Amino acid sequence: MKSPADMKVIQIEITNACPLKCSGCTRLCGHHEEPFFMDFETFKAAVDSLKGFDGIVGVMGGEPTIHPEFPRFMDYYRANVGYDDHTTGSYKPTGDYMRHVLANTWHTDYSNKRGLWSMMPPKYYEHFELIQDTFAYQSLNDHSKPSLHQTQLVTRKELGIPDEEWFKLRDRCWVQNLWSASITPKGAFFCEVAAAMDATLGGPGGWKIEPGWWQRKPEDFGDQLNWCEMCSACLPMPSRDARDQCDDVSPVWAEKLEGIKSPKLRKGLVNVFDPQVWQKDKHSIIQTHMPYMDDQETRMGKVRDRMTPHKITEVLWLTCALKDDAARALIDAMKAAGRLAAIASRDENAAALAEQAGVPFVSGAHALKDLIAATNGKDWALLCKDAAMPVEFLDFAKTCVFNPGVIHGGGPTTLDYQFFNFRALSLRNGGDLFNLASAYPARKVVTLKSWKKKDYVLSDVGMFLRRLLKRWVWFNRKIRGKEAARGSFGAWKGNKVSV
Ligand code: SF4
Ligand code: SF4
Repeated sequence: MKSPADMKVIQIEITNACPLKCSGCTRLCGHHEEPFFMDFETFKAAVDSLKGFDGIVGVMGGEPTIHPEFPRFMDYYRANVGYDDHTTGSYKPTGDYMRHVLANTWHTDYSNKRGLWSMMPPKYYEHFELIQDTFAYQSLNDHSKPSLHQTQLVTRKELGIPDEEWFKLRDRCWVQNLWSASITPKGAFFCEVAAAMDATLGGPGGWKIEPGWWQRKPEDFGDQLNWCEMCSACLPMPSRDARDQCDDVSPVWAEKLEGIKSPKLRKGLVNVFDPQVWQKDKHSIIQTHMPYMDDQETRMGKVRDRMTPHKITEVLWLTCALKDDAARALIDAMKAAGRLAAIASRDENAAALAEQAGVPFVSGAHALKDLIAATNGKDWALLCKDAAMPVEFLDFAKTCVFNPGVIHGGGPTTLDYQFFNFRALSLRNGGDLFNLASAYPARKVVTLKSWKKKDYVLSDVGMFLRRLLKRWVWFNRKIRGKEAARGSFGAWKGNKVSV
């Protein structure tokens, strides 16, 4: 066992609701009649209590991005945990977002002290910009590809493990030693699985969420260790594909789940595991922190399609440079192709062309606001001056993940265009449609050098260099005495390193 102070991550669990019900979910998702959603005051107390902790303060669930106050929580979190690290955020398009994420997250020790755990539901897409601005470490898994989750809802007493053997196994538990302590609305816990069991079974709650709670040592864990008696995570147990959605549980657990009217149990997604048939030697004790899948790049499966632009609203920007006849021909061609959602111009006279074409016309200082209202714009917009964008661009846009907080332009042609998202945080307070880039910070104005997906996929060398860059950023902060994660050398205080 380990003191939370020596862990790489301590989690704040802002909800235990999740769209999925994976087998062996360590948060027991699917077993609660009513999931919890942490309130803001508890979240603030949790963040404040972790001041001085030099690992990652994780934001986790369930699925944290579905918390209705996620943006508000993130504002407080950003102001009080770690630092913004814009060096490795996704500002350019990414042709393989999972490689981008993995390049950033190879090592927890060099993060910006902020981490997000998510299965990437639609809310992840919605909060994409905020997530990029906040987290340099993300652990993502949409669970649509095979991943093995170990059976944990079996008690050691049912398996007949004597005290002497049990205490040694328990104290070497991989979850507690390699992963996290945790905070839920019911308090702080020495282990994330213990926290989930307490929340699910209506346990007595955890320690008060107060500064320094995480400095407790194993000898201080006291009654919380009783949760280990309910848990088989530290034992050699079978595993099951998370996609089965079914939990193998012992008779004691089946009774407990009956008692709490578990929805998963009622739906027949529980298999009662017979402790008598347990074959200890057939399984091994987990000793690595990522035991459940071999190919980390498969963490993003089905969700890939959900991450590329959902809808692109094409807007033609007419200037005086285009004669009326040429403008009409262009409008007709775009309309025939079903690609014209609106016309924008500084010149009010262009309104007649829009009227003839039967599409909305926007102009003047409120053009952006009017465009959003007229097109019900919620996703991407492509504003092109005096021309239609080549289909090559649209094909490219459908295959990459774009940060909605970024405005894009440039490319293999000299066309003057802007590809931006109506939900960009930079446009929250409006903006001048005819000078949009001025509303964005420099890092969010991106020139596209090519319109080919392959040019935006990180190569193996690129991934290596990214990891190197993360270490460089970390090292630079360390030597300048700025806040940084502890690094792989152990705690670094003043000029002393204690491993
Ligand atoms: S996605 Fe994660 S939190 Fe949700 S059910 Fe699966 S393992 Fe649990
Ligand atoms: S046995 Fe279970 S409750 Fe105990 S430390 Fe391991 S994961 Fe946590």
